[in-house]
Amino acid sequence: MRACVIHGAEDLRLEDWPEPAPGPGEVLLAVRAGGICGSDLHYFFEGRNGDFVVREPLVPGHEVAGEVAAIGPGVSRVAPGDHVAVHPGRACGQCRACKEGRGNLCRNVFFLGSASRFPHMQGGFVDFLLVHESQCHPVSPDLPFTIAAFAEPLAVCLHAVSRAGSMLGRTALITGAGPIGLLMLLSLRRAGAARVAVTDVLDPPLALATTLGVDAIFNVAADPDSPRDPEGYDLAFECSGNPTALASALRLVRPGAIVVQVGTLPPAAIPLPGNLVMAKEIDLRGSMRFDTEFSHAVACLDRGLIDVRPVLTGTRPPSEAVAAFHLARDRSAHAKVQILFG
Ligand SMILES: [Zn+2]
Ligand SMILES: [Zn+2]
Repeated sequence: MRACVIHGAEDLRLEDWPEPAPGPGEVLLAVRAGGICGSDLHYFFEGRNGDFVVREPLVPGHEVAGEVAAIGPGVSRVAPGDHVAVHPGRACGQCRACKEGRGNLCRNVFFLGSASRFPHMQGGFVDFLLVHESQCHPVSPDLPFTIAAFAEPLAVCLHAVSRAGSMLGRTALITGAGPIGLLMLLSLRRAGAARVAVTDVLDPPLALATTLGVDAIFNVAADPDSPRDPEGYDLAFECSGNPTALASALRLVRPGAIVVQVGTLPPAAIPLPGNLVMAKEIDLRGSMRFDTEFSHAVACLDRGLIDVRPVLTGTRPPSEAVAAFHLARDRSAHAKVQILFG
């Protein structure tokens, strides 16, 4: 089978790997669509994602949808031919975080396409992927695989909403109009936000935010604090991973606001106007991946409650995986880019 394998920075090869066979409780999935995420871009262009360095060949990809090709003994949740979205994480179920119902914080999690552990956990940019049946979330057969593959990034945003609490009637600032910022916008709308503003340093992603029904857009290339709101925003969702944007969010929210860090900041220490957290009693909250929100994301996509189609701007076959990674990095022309197998 074909596998997209990263050997180091800008060294991705299409290789022929043996096709795995499902063991007890396992499902062999014929991958159909795989979205390229920011972390995949880091692995490809830098050979590392923050602190996680590619130390052996790594198959990236964790935003995956496909069709069940075969099932191992004891599998009852899905049958061959079923279409599924894949929850990329498998928590241990034993650690304290797992026991407290926060599987996304599991220290022993197995997560597709990640170099956080050695041996690395291989990802979904392959023809056939082995997953546990608990990771398979069936979708209706007429839902396009390209849409089902949005379950993962959408779940990230729904989890950020869970971390923030009720959005009803609230005003929110989203910093960063990449795929996560855009899906954050759709999620906040669905959750009942009254008014949402989005920032970016480029105009094309902001134009996409306009297509998706944002209330206000701000190009903050010249002035990070330009999205001033007379009252101050009730909430901010930092989706760019840029320390400047986080600092700006802390300045632009009202006293008593909640700021949720969704993006991955640089690995090194960053300057932070920390006294604002104290003086304005800002709740600064992290949001890490997702847990049960994954099933809700699948339901939203399957039932057409959230329309992510405008966010998908490009698809390529595995033979053009390198080109696909370059497209995904080109934020002036693209939002979400997927690799289509099959
Ligand atoms: Zn992702
Ligand atoms: Zn655990």
